[in-house]
Amino acid sequence: MRASRFFISTLKEAPSDAEIISHKLMMRAGMIKRLGSGIYTYMPMGLRVIRKVENIVREEMNRAGAVELLMPVVQPAELWQETGRWDKMGPELMRVKDRHGRDYAIQPTSEEVITDVVRADIKSYRQLPVNFYHIQTKFRDERRPRFGLMRGREFTMKDAYSFDRDVAGMQQSYKIMYDAYVRIFDRFGLQFRAVAADNGAIGGSGSHEFHVIADIGEDALVYCPQSDFAANMEAAEAVALSASRPAASQALVKTPTPGKAKCEHVAELLKLPLSHTVKSIVLTVEKEDADKEVWLLLLRGDHELNEVKASKVPGLANYRFASEGEIVEWFGTKPGYLGPVDPKKPIKVVADRTVSNMSDFVCGANEEDFHYTGVNWGRDVPEPIVADLRNVVAGDPSPDGKGTLAIQRGIEVGHVFQLGTRYSEDMQATYLDETGKPQLMQMGCYGIGVTRILGAAIEQNFDDKGIIWPTAIAPFEVVVCPMGYDRNEAVKAETDKLYDALLAAGVDVILDDRGERPGVMFADWELIGVPHRIVVGDRGLKEGKLEYQGRRDATATPVALEEMLAFVQ
Ligand code: ATP
Ligand code: MG
Ligand code: MG
Ligand code: MG
Repeated sequence: MRASRFFISTLKEAPSDAEIISHKLMMRAGMIKRLGSGIYTYMPMGLRVIRKVENIVREEMNRAGAVELLMPVVQPAELWQETGRWDKMGPELMRVKDRHGRDYAIQPTSEEVITDVVRADIKSYRQLPVNFYHIQTKFRDERRPRFGLMRGREFTMKDAYSFDRDVAGMQQSYKIMYDAYVRIFDRFGLQFRAVAADNGAIGGSGSHEFHVIADIGEDALVYCPQSDFAANMEAAEAVALSASRPAASQALVKTPTPGKAKCEHVAELLKLPLSHTVKSIVLTVEKEDADKEVWLLLLRGDHELNEVKASKVPGLANYRFASEGEIVEWFGTKPGYLGPVDPKKPIKVVADRTVSNMSDFVCGANEEDFHYTGVNWGRDVPEPIVADLRNVVAGDPSPDGKGTLAIQRGIEVGHVFQLGTRYSEDMQATYLDETGKPQLMQMGCYGIGVTRILGAAIEQNFDDKGIIWPTAIAPFEVVVCPMGYDRNEAVKAETDKLYDALLAAGVDVILDDRGERPGVMFADWELIGVPHRIVVGDRGLKEGKLEYQGRRDATATPVALEEMLAFVQ
């Protein structure tokens, strides 16, 4: 590529709404342009990075045996109603109507559509397992879009969906994806950590998140340097609480709700103001209650109701939400949704130490006229909240007993999930087994935030001059900067020769033939973050030398003309 024919547009200052380094640098380097809140045009320089990320993802997905297709961005509401997500997802799901007044969702993910494809086209056990993926535009009407591509509303995700005959098969498919993710993030050249999510350590490895390690990350990761224990904070809290602090909460007692049916009870509570906030609540349900609807009153917080989800781990519902609490909302799981439960686990409700005095908390199995009390909260027990429940903190013993815990922050860039029959049941995605009997398919889903990776990569790789792309995802691998390309014959000739040789060798090179002064040229490429720079100058050429400087190098190294090709490869 010749810079004169490409589009380069750099800025001295970042716009004032850019809060974090990666957002600032991407704006200054001309990689993205803001069109609206959380909506960006991917400019040519940024798009090259996105394509490289996509290519690595695609190669590794294909290698892992996943099959690419492409599902629509605009999806009929009927499918979403089948699984209940049309209602459950709340305002984060973007909805549109067509000219006939029909409802559509703009996809935030595609479980419904892929399950619809599979239930129509997969009939027999012989066609399983199968794993479909696409790399497609997503839309989520995030409450707080921010940090540029990191939390956009429109963004690109790779989402894959596996279908298996049984749980063992699903776990196998999950493992294959997990391993593929490790290869993908390795290839990006980023420092990352996979952590159990959603109480994985309690109910098996039901879900893992992949995080790029960065201080600005929104998530706290808990890990044990002496073992392979690693979980996000919510999962770690759940494990730690159940493993080492069972006495921290008290068992709930099923109590008649005097003269009140469940809904009235909830409605009444909805009116009560809340002055305190809860960060997480873990609710474990007794076996006898597993088939009952379980409900929980929630604070309206940073997270929308639709982000409040029941755990897929049997018997455990983990709800997380944060800050800004003022009014209560409630959430009901479907009957049976929690699945079978460990009979030894009592119903307990615990909260971390950010809760100091929560007056309006009630939970219970939604049997008419019954609710649960017995912790120090709930309006029937007007005492202050349990004080010794807390977040996991650094230095706590690791739940596996092998060492102590450390905490670091991460940016969630990937998420793998064992879904079981969550979707196949609602949508009746079945196959016929060897005996001709219909069986529900066991699903998994696997996401990678393609565009978020750009932000995450920069948070790990920058200096005061700009971005430092890992070579695998750099917009260009090498930039050739000639000194006086338009006025020095020898420089031009050697530059062209080198450029052609690099191209022929398959190096992704850009030649800066814009005729800019060296200072401007260097500043631009340092800001853009091209990892390798070659300078062709008259003085060096007289000694048969070029100059090489890696983006992290403090000084340039003279390299003989004939050795340069090998040098940058
Ligand atoms: P978050 O916790 O950051 O809101 P999520 O858990 O809601 O993410 P998933 O539903 O797990 O996201 O989606 C899979 C991946 O898509 C995430 O791991 C993340 O990399 C990416 N992603 C999710 N939301 C956004 C967004 N608003 N902007 C960019 N990427 C996103
Ligand atoms: Mg989200
Ligand atoms: Mg998340
Ligand atoms: Mg996630």
